[in-house]
Amino acid sequence: MDCIVQVVLDTPLDNCFDYRWPPESAAPEQVDVQYAAPQIGQIVMLPFGRREVPGLIVGLATQSAVPANKLKAVLAVRAEMPPLSAEWIALCRFAAQYYQRPLGEVALPSLPKNLRAAKPLAFGKALKKLEKIALVQDATPVATPNLNEEQQQAVTSIASAAGFAPFLLYGVTGSGKTEVYLHAAAQILAATPNSQVLILVPEINLTPQLEGNIRARFPGLHLASLHSSLAEGERMQHWLAAHTGRARIILGTRLAILASLPHLKLIIIDEEHDPSYKQQEGLRYSARDLAVWRARQLGIAVVLGSATPALESWQHAQSGRYRKLVLGQRAVQAASLPVVRMIDLEKDKPRDGLSSGLIAALKLRLERGEQSLLFLNRRGYAPVLNCEACGWICNCQRCTAFMVLHKPERRLRCHHCSLELYIPKHCPTCGNVDLQPLGRGTQRVEEGLQSLFPQARILRIDADSTRKKGSAQAAFDTVHRGEIDILIGTQMVAKGHDFKRLSLVGVLNPDTALFSPDYRASERLFAQLMQVAGRAGRAALAEGSKSEVLIQSRYWQHALYSAVVAHDYDYFASALLDERRQAALPPFIFQALLRAEARELAQALEFLHSAKNCMPHQGITIHDPIPMTITRVANVERAQLLLETPQRGHLQGFLSEWMKVLRQLKTRVKWGLEVDPVDI
Ligand code: ADP
Ligand code: ZN
Ligand code: ZN
Repeated sequence: MDCIVQVVLDTPLDNCFDYRWPPESAAPEQVDVQYAAPQIGQIVMLPFGRREVPGLIVGLATQSAVPANKLKAVLAVRAEMPPLSAEWIALCRFAAQYYQRPLGEVALPSLPKNLRAAKPLAFGKALKKLEKIALVQDATPVATPNLNEEQQQAVTSIASAAGFAPFLLYGVTGSGKTEVYLHAAAQILAATPNSQVLILVPEINLTPQLEGNIRARFPGLHLASLHSSLAEGERMQHWLAAHTGRARIILGTRLAILASLPHLKLIIIDEEHDPSYKQQEGLRYSARDLAVWRARQLGIAVVLGSATPALESWQHAQSGRYRKLVLGQRAVQAASLPVVRMIDLEKDKPRDGLSSGLIAALKLRLERGEQSLLFLNRRGYAPVLNCEACGWICNCQRCTAFMVLHKPERRLRCHHCSLELYIPKHCPTCGNVDLQPLGRGTQRVEEGLQSLFPQARILRIDADSTRKKGSAQAAFDTVHRGEIDILIGTQMVAKGHDFKRLSLVGVLNPDTALFSPDYRASERLFAQLMQVAGRAGRAALAEGSKSEVLIQSRYWQHALYSAVVAHDYDYFASALLDERRQAALPPFIFQALLRAEARELAQALEFLHSAKNCMPHQGITIHDPIPMTITRVANVERAQLLLETPQRGHLQGFLSEWMKVLRQLKTRVKWGLEVDPVDI
């Protein structure tokens, strides 16, 4: 059949391209040609300029506005693969519109690379291999605990919901949210043949327990996992398993929200408040928001689970848009929420970063054979290397940032551009040989602990100690096996883990976030403290033991800390929502951020000025362009322009017009738009 196929490509050009069908003859070993009728949702290979590029068929026509002699023919079609569904294309279309990107730039990059490669697609082979890996191996079924009443109610509500049903599962740490997810999933999978369940987690490497749990609980069911650390071949296989419906449970990170899932019946988002659900480059989407959209489109349930929901989600639950399900208690009978206490650093001066109160508590845990966790969100040895004689400080040559001292690696490292330097033997300005580290990172605390407790088994877990693939998992395993007495780490250790023997959590230096210019910093700090505190007291302890959380601070009377001490998310959230309402901040208004990058700051600012003034913007507040807090990164100067309005629809309408004008502006500045920014 001769016709025209309309395709989208991964280009910044926001339009469809017409190509002739059937595919032109090509060497059969090079491309897999099939002359059957084209279908919307098929992946095709196309000539584009001098290149061969993949495209997605989004429309069919009999005529084209392009003159016949200019019209090129499709080269090949991935006919072996079932086409992507209209629903999937609609999801990409929504994301493209909402985040103001061309459809092709959303749809194509979300597909596995091998599918888009010019090489013929060994689809059959990929599928065969898939049967082998995705088949659940030696999954010994495990006993499921009897749900408590709150859990049971939550499961029933989710599994019996009809049509679009957004739930906020608000459950304190250790309340057994995972059980609710698994039971609800089991009921839905059993109720509808072939149905699929998507479970999103913030970071898959930090939740190996969950994958093991799922395998054990659903023996015989195909599980696919989708996350960024899969090799391309694996990613292709898992993606295909989801796309063909073979995988019934799909466990993934934020990128999995754009997977093709033809029989999707339930979406679960664990730790829904986690910042990693927001993509921070390219298409800056929120996987949580897309999940809710996707659930609405399909008329299914979506469960957002957290002990400290994002204020946006909380607000929706308060207003009734989301149904709130509450788990108020820890699930394990003998477990109880830890006692949280503040340690006033003005009174109890720290030694090696540790107050005497915290040292005593650590000692007690060592004597009892229980585990302790110290949380410090700063990796490296010290954030600054300083010459006391002349005041020199080691700055990164390429960024507005200090070089961080890494003692075990014997390097200075920039955490923004990854520049590495040897540690200077003397001050480059005055020659002083006595350079001093200022401040304290995880490495330095580890060193201090070793001298304080030479007998203790101490382990540091942060991005530096877990660079090698699999090393994070191995490290956490040693903690679970009880081979560690004191664990020190960054937010990597705060998330999700169910450490059974942990009875003390110490928080070393949380104060900086109290004074951040980012209005979301306090929301994040609160969530982080509640999460890390939630690692303690998850199982029964020996007679007389109790689990506690000690937070060292100079501002121990701060309202945020009082709310943590009282385990009172409700109070904190309503106070913060009041503040946001009064200050006209999200979720009460809607924002977008235009970012610009250039060699010279003036160029970036100038571009943003012209962007601000290039068209009328009634009803939309556009602030003045400002340099970003860390202005220069890797020799690139960065600035931003903030837009605000009380009406989402209004913002969307303006943005799509504005983008058209901005794309016409001649500039060498690299720019990008972010809708609903989270880091301002
Ligand atoms: P959350 O995700 O809410 O922090 P988890 O799902 O990790 O909590 O559950 C905490 C612990 O409670 C786990 O060890 C889990 O096996 C256990 N648990 C969950 N539900 C029950 C239950 N109904 N009875 C007994 N133990 C349970
Ligand atoms: Zn000096
Ligand atoms: Zn740098």
